[in-house]
Amino acid sequence: MAERVYLDWNATTPLRNEARAAMSAAFDLAGNPSSIHLEGRAARKLIEDARLVVAAAVGAEARNVVFTSGGTESNALALQPGLKGAGGDPLRRLVVSAIEHVSVLSGGQFVSRQPVEVAPVTRDGIVDFNALRTMLADQPPALVSIMLANNESGVIQPVSEAADIVHDAGGLLHVDAVQALGKIAIDLRALGADLLSVSAHKLGGPKGVGAIVLAHDPQDFAPLLRGGGQERNRRAGTENVAGIAGFGAAVAAAIPSLEREMTRLTHLRNQLEDALAADGDVTIFGANQARLPNTTLFAAPGIRAETAVIAFDLEGIAVSSGSACSSGKVTPSHVLKAMQVRSELVLGAIRLSSGYLTSETDIERCLEAWRKLRGVLGKG
Ligand code: PLP
Repeated sequence: MAERVYLDWNATTPLRNEARAAMSAAFDLAGNPSSIHLEGRAARKLIEDARLVVAAAVGAEARNVVFTSGGTESNALALQPGLKGAGGDPLRRLVVSAIEHVSVLSGGQFVSRQPVEVAPVTRDGIVDFNALRTMLADQPPALVSIMLANNESGVIQPVSEAADIVHDAGGLLHVDAVQALGKIAIDLRALGADLLSVSAHKLGGPKGVGAIVLAHDPQDFAPLLRGGGQERNRRAGTENVAGIAGFGAAVAAAIPSLEREMTRLTHLRNQLEDALAADGDVTIFGANQARLPNTTLFAAPGIRAETAVIAFDLEGIAVSSGSACSSGKVTPSHVLKAMQVRSELVLGAIRLSSGYLTSETDIERCLEAWRKLRGVLGKG
């Protein structure tokens, strides 16, 4: 039987060998990283080594990297009402873009205190900066959350432009870079981000570990849970030593080959999209925008995404629908709805996302399966 082809790297990625080895070694350490004895210091060293690697990957200072249980927690930790803007007052408003991950849209710690204000995006999936400017003209200043790369469309936001708008209005900018780390270069300062979320499992690290990275050292940054003073009093609880070591190892493995992989995956993506577009009736979402090199979100008339995902799966290919599926119910993608895509295409959106193990043969097999599937399901 032919090997499976995995094209769902934006959902999660296979564990890198380097991460597996680092975790395996960490599991053998007995110490608590907060203990001062030899065993504790050995565990501490793994965490601090990983912190240096993650910091370097995003252009931050190591002391400003706070390890968490993943992107969801990082986002919740970032979206806290106590943070102070340039004027020194706590930011009491939260503005997020309409295409954010649900963990941002839910508003983190703001949830019980303030309604989340949602900034619209253009048909191309880019935050509407005029609308953002108007929203931020109202006082008081806001904490604003805009993702670097969208998990469904792969569209990359011009974050540094957003940062200028946010800062001019006295606010702070949080950037969810969960889908960007390991796929494109990230420089916290060039982006103008004040806070940045990352997650290990999107680049070959383990699931359940991530970080919130701070551009500066806000005194007012508070932990979500009360407990020990770990992570410089910003995130209580004994650290996930093996997970953090695996995260560091995955980042260390991914970054040196980043440019080469970007070129390779862009080439594969173009091959894939040229072949899809040859059908004449396929829509590739965000096609005119800067996008992640590994992501294609597309739809064809008359093909429902759930049916296509199952048909691909039967052909040995793992892909995803652009629609979020939870508790067995498929809900139309809020990202495509925000991009004003018509509902038939929203329900047909299929996401193909690749990674460092994806080969040209994988793309060919995917295209073969697509042709077969179209033959069976018919043209719209
Ligand atoms: N943010 C984005 C853009 C994501 O794609 C995801 C995961 O899919 C998350 C946040 C949540 O990350 P985690 O799965 O590490 O909680």
